[in-house]
Amino acid sequence: MVAGRFSVALLIGPPDAGKGTQARYVGEALGIRHVASGDLLREHRQRDTPIGLTARAYMDQGDLVPDELVVQMVIERLARPDAARGVVLDGFPRTVCQARALDVALAERGGRVTAALFLDVPTDVLVERLSGRRVCIGCHSTFHVVLQQLPFDSTCPHCGDRLVQRADDIPSVVTRRVAVYQQQTAPVLDHYRVRGVLRRADASSSVELTRARVLEQLGLRESPELCSEPTERNPGHCVSR
Ligand code: AMP
Repeated sequence: MVAGRFSVALLIGPPDAGKGTQARYVGEALGIRHVASGDLLREHRQRDTPIGLTARAYMDQGDLVPDELVVQMVIERLARPDAARGVVLDGFPRTVCQARALDVALAERGGRVTAALFLDVPTDVLVERLSGRRVCIGCHSTFHVVLQQLPFDSTCPHCGDRLVQRADDIPSVVTRRVAVYQQQTAPVLDHYRVRGVLRRADASSSVELTRARVLEQLGLRESPELCSEPTERNPGHCVSR
């Protein structure tokens, strides 16, 4: 997959599948911006904008924010200069209605979705991951204290800011988010399957192994066979060619 003008790659998967981390890698590999709808909404909340104030109640209950609001917010973001060559979308689209709106908006700019990557993680693995996810309050990077072997009181390995657990990572809210994913977001996979751009990567093991699978699926780089499975002494790094 080559990043061209207005090409958009996107990652679809259940909550805690690792979309943010992998989208960042894909953005770096393609040299284009990573845009996360969840991050945009959290920024609106922080600034108490009308979008942020409306989104708050939906997000805190684990529900999806209404399509009109999210579509408008993401399409506006795609019009900014740093998105001129395209973006890697993370967390958008989450409904078939959003997917159709994205197709229309991209077609108007002569662009299209070139790859929709499904990060596949079984529900039992998702539940196991819950307790460990932390988000940096500074750069919004996400980490997993167990999978990435970080001390529980660790600061952000990227920028040194504080790592916190998101309010919507508490178990009752996560259960709701997984149900919402199955009802509303899983049908989006078919939208891209019939358009011939859907790819799948098993995202149930280490971050590094998933990264190799994702890059391979997108035709970007190394095959997972070059990566070691994580052990206690080796967190699972790729072997360079
Ligand atoms: P995320 O950080 O992607 O897990 O998103 C956190 C929350 O933001 C979700 O649980 C939703 O409430 C909301 N959200 C993010 N992206 C979307 C979207 N594309 N459509 C509707 N709601 C969204």
